[in-house]
Amino acid sequence: MKKIIIANWKMNPNSLEEAKDIFEGIKSGAKGINAEVVACPPFTYLAGLKGLTLGGQNIFYEEKGAYTGEISAQMLKNLGCKYVLIGHSERRKYFNETDEDVNKKLKSAVSVGLIPIFCVGETEEERNAGKAEEVVERQIKIGLAGIENWKLKIENLVLAYEPVWAIGTGNACSVDDAKKMLEFIKKIKDVSVVYGGSVNGENAKSYIKEAGYDGLLVGGASLRPEEFVKIIRESI
Ligand code: PEP
Repeated sequence: MKKIIIANWKMNPNSLEEAKDIFEGIKSGAKGINAEVVACPPFTYLAGLKGLTLGGQNIFYEEKGAYTGEISAQMLKNLGCKYVLIGHSERRKYFNETDEDVNKKLKSAVSVGLIPIFCVGETEEERNAGKAEEVVERQIKIGLAGIENWKLKIENLVLAYEPVWAIGTGNACSVDDAKKMLEFIKKIKDVSVVYGGSVNGENAKSYIKEAGYDGLLVGGASLRPEEFVKIIRESI
């Protein structure tokens, strides 16, 4: 199976012009590399970027209607997106997304054939309290509740383990802890699992080759094409 390397640009950059520059840099650097490279730019740039696999960063769970400011799963699908990030910790933190909201969003994504990149991970307090596995298990179980098994096969779902304390901090998870969590997650759900949290060109390889992850979810470093291409190359 190809490694999946996902760029989460979050709320960056400020213009389509800059987005195109970053995108083209990644595209040309990743040309011919045997990996599934996925770009998740802000919604407003999705229609203007061509030539790499695309994903959205979020959806609302309703199909359509009076939900000002929201974007549906079908809208992303119709734009040509293959993936969508669901349950990112920044959405849980700043927009109060609960496990139950995440469950509804996952249902909505799979119902239109979008592949969710379902993000789970514990906070620092939860890890320090010895609750990392308990939290991740709860997030996965509630997130996937009531979704038929065939919709959650390996080709239809990606899980992302992103310890919250490692996101955007430069404080990446140790390979040992990442490996332990990967083994734990695979016992709950045997699908592709990617690691995310302060991945860079130096540490990328260890999560794939030593810890055994199926890919990476990259935030900050994915806005720097050279660094991101290095991450892709180190991962295959
Ligand atoms: C993320 O946003 O999912 C992420 C992992 O960010 P960063 O790589 O910047 O830690």
